[in-house]
Amino acid sequence: MAGIYFHIPFCKQACHYCDFHFSTNFRNVTQLVYAMKVELRLRADYVDSELIETIYFGGGTPSAIPPHLIGELIDEVRQIHEVSKDAEISLEANPDDLTKENLQAWKSYGINRLSIGVQSFVDEHLKFMNRAHNSEEAINGLTWAKEIGITNITMDLIYGIPNMTMEQWHSNLQTFFDLDLPHLSAYGLTIEDQTHLGHLVKTHQVQTEKDSNYNVQFEYLMNATQAQGFDHYEISNFGKPGFYSGHNTAYWLGKKYVGIGPSAHSFNGKERSWNVASNMKYTKLLKEEKLPSEIENLSINDQFNEYVLTRLRTIWGIETRQIKTQFGDKFQNILNSSITPYVRSGHVLFDGVSYTLSTEGKYLADKISSDLFVID
Ligand code: SF4
Repeated sequence: MAGIYFHIPFCKQACHYCDFHFSTNFRNVTQLVYAMKVELRLRADYVDSELIETIYFGGGTPSAIPPHLIGELIDEVRQIHEVSKDAEISLEANPDDLTKENLQAWKSYGINRLSIGVQSFVDEHLKFMNRAHNSEEAINGLTWAKEIGITNITMDLIYGIPNMTMEQWHSNLQTFFDLDLPHLSAYGLTIEDQTHLGHLVKTHQVQTEKDSNYNVQFEYLMNATQAQGFDHYEISNFGKPGFYSGHNTAYWLGKKYVGIGPSAHSFNGKERSWNVASNMKYTKLLKEEKLPSEIENLSINDQFNEYVLTRLRTIWGIETRQIKTQFGDKFQNILNSSITPYVRSGHVLFDGVSYTLSTEGKYLADKISSDLFVID
């Protein structure tokens, strides 16, 4: 069982907080998609003929390119790989692209899950973050998506936006609940140095939110989603039973995936590879039928750290039996001594099978996992 990720590196405009790889110049979209098909063929063996269970279009903004190009990529996957008949095929979409025509087209090509970048229903937040849509477009688009029969929908919300009030955060969550969607991804705004927002903070034009405000908003998020029947199955992800993200869950559980497109990463259990983060270099290399990637063979320490980092954030947690069989007694002993203080303090729970974060531990997820890392 494996997954395929397509990174579609185009956006209409740059959101002020974003440090992903994308271009706002759409001129070479068709050539780039052609190069992605070549990469898909060159990497045909990467996942060892395993059944493809998930296909995910992320970016960038996959919804901003002509829908038939998405259809062509799905067809190409089907020609090269065996795809499960129940495969989850997801597309990230921005609300301003959710026209009835686009929704119909994506559905006809096989898209059966949408991930909508709403971020906030408050127009002043959307302007502050330089998003290309407004809240009315988000509500209309989500409503149309359901009307045409795409029911597996998730949306993104951001909390910790400078000057966001608790009332605005409550109202954003209430609007999400009123839309009756089965999944939510909610992220605290992070300020990366090399972004426009990073510049505004560095030059004191914008003040970041205090950690205490983040924590209050995160606490409200956890309580409100739980009261509405959502499982908090990963630190930033909340799903109704049966609606967890199949693609991301496979990633968190260490399954194989191949990443196609500029800046995309791949993982086959033994090695990780990542593609060049330049649309031009990517297209040029694939024209010459050369893979545009570098390979990193993961050391045992890297594999252990990766396992700890991803699993501790999930409800499945760090399984002691898997640590023993995959990494051996040495790592099991190291883990025992580094995690015990957190079990004693109540930040980590242990049920005899796996270690998971308690509610208190979720506020410190990053610190706890870095304290568990084994450094070379
Ligand atoms: S639409 Fe998404 S990928 Fe594009 S700039 Fe905004 S946040 Fe980044």
